[in-house]
Amino acid sequence: FPKTKEEILKYVKENNVYFIEIWFADILGYLKSFTITAHELEKAFEEGLGFDGSSVRGFTRIEESDMIAFPEPETFTILPWRPQDKKVARMFATIVEPSGKPFEGDPRNVLRRVLSRAKEMGFTYYVGPELEYFYFKSPSPNLEVLDWGGYFDLIPRDEAIDLRHQTVSMLEEMGIEVEFTHHEVAPSQHEIDFRYAEALTMADTVMTARLAIKEVAYLNGVYATFMPKPLFGQNGSGMHVHMSLFKDGKNAFFDPHDKYHLSDTAKHFIAGLLKHAKEITLITNQWVNSYKRLVPGYEAPVYISWAMRNRSDLIRVPMYKPGKEEATRIEYRAPDPACNPYLAFAVMLAAGLEGIEKKYPLPEPVEENVYHMTEEERKKKGIESLPGSLIEAIEITEKSEVVKKALGEHVFTNFIENKKIEWDNYRRQVTTYELETYLPVL
Ligand code: GLU
Ligand code: MG
Ligand code: MG
Repeated sequence: FPKTKEEILKYVKENNVYFIEIWFADILGYLKSFTITAHELEKAFEEGLGFDGSSVRGFTRIEESDMIAFPEPETFTILPWRPQDKKVARMFATIVEPSGKPFEGDPRNVLRRVLSRAKEMGFTYYVGPELEYFYFKSPSPNLEVLDWGGYFDLIPRDEAIDLRHQTVSMLEEMGIEVEFTHHEVAPSQHEIDFRYAEALTMADTVMTARLAIKEVAYLNGVYATFMPKPLFGQNGSGMHVHMSLFKDGKNAFFDPHDKYHLSDTAKHFIAGLLKHAKEITLITNQWVNSYKRLVPGYEAPVYISWAMRNRSDLIRVPMYKPGKEEATRIEYRAPDPACNPYLAFAVMLAAGLEGIEKKYPLPEPVEENVYHMTEEERKKKGIESLPGSLIEAIEITEKSEVVKKALGEHVFTNFIENKKIEWDNYRRQVTTYELETYLPVL
């Protein structure tokens, strides 16, 4: 796709592009959009598009709500699921205040700010997420799965395999590189993995992929969800994030002489993530339901540890191609696919950079299954736990300087306020669990 304003204007004229959707995210990572017609595009590039941000979650400011969206030419792409005779394109926008200052409530701006902190230290931040999700027949609470397959299953008459293939080919048409797709462990659970890319591009990709997965599901009469734990007693959906820092075109996490092939930079980065894991969990796992996934026994992390191989740890160092520079990376397993990817990447990077800046020492890896250790054993090894509920996470994050600095005052305050409301709404509910447990005996 064209990448400059001039090329785009020409492309739009020559290729029957009729509408252009302007995309951005609110603080919780909901995709927001408005549409302009092709003949308005030139003006939009020059002057930006004014809109009233007062009803967008996390955008409200007391003084003013007028915002300007500037479409980013390098994010131009055609939407393959929309009519192809009158084509629809989309661009992500950067939100700017009328004064010209980047709006601090725009999650893309938040991530950009942390990325430039990394740049100042000489680093480019690459991420590769693994997006897990479920298909159900509809969004009704009586969940009906499409299949009873399991990990890597190839099952006969599998509707989902076609859904996955259709989705992947649409994403590739949009210029998004997919590495891998497969059935996941739980019934009707699937996964799509992307080839690693620079974090801002990848956050845009996650936003796009979530929409594409849902669009393709709708086109086929089913429903796709990124809800972290829809089925009690089954694996939930995670969004493990592989990450590395590059410096001067070289993988700064790689050291061929180290026992783990990890550089000091990588070790300090891991140490930073471990030390601040509890504080960033509210951002990487932002819903009441996120904490139903972070329980022992379902391949989701609970305890704060790292290892080369073990899948019960929070951080894993994948060893598919040991000693290969490009493949050297770490995998952070806490995030779920219902996070705001801009903010999640921002806080993970900030935690890692803290570790590098302050040269945090790396604790020993924990190769035994942490799920199977007794509390005593974990205590002896100094292994702590991630927050167990949304309110626990809120209370920890509220006190975090690292998260406050990463998100900026505006998003930090709005995010926490929003999460307190969510917790309060949840807290008042009388659930089926309570009725079934208490009513017959009390
Ligand atoms: N679904 C698991 C989770 O909640 C991860 C399974 C895997 O290792 O891919 O994180
Ligand atoms: Mg997986
Ligand atoms: Mg993984």
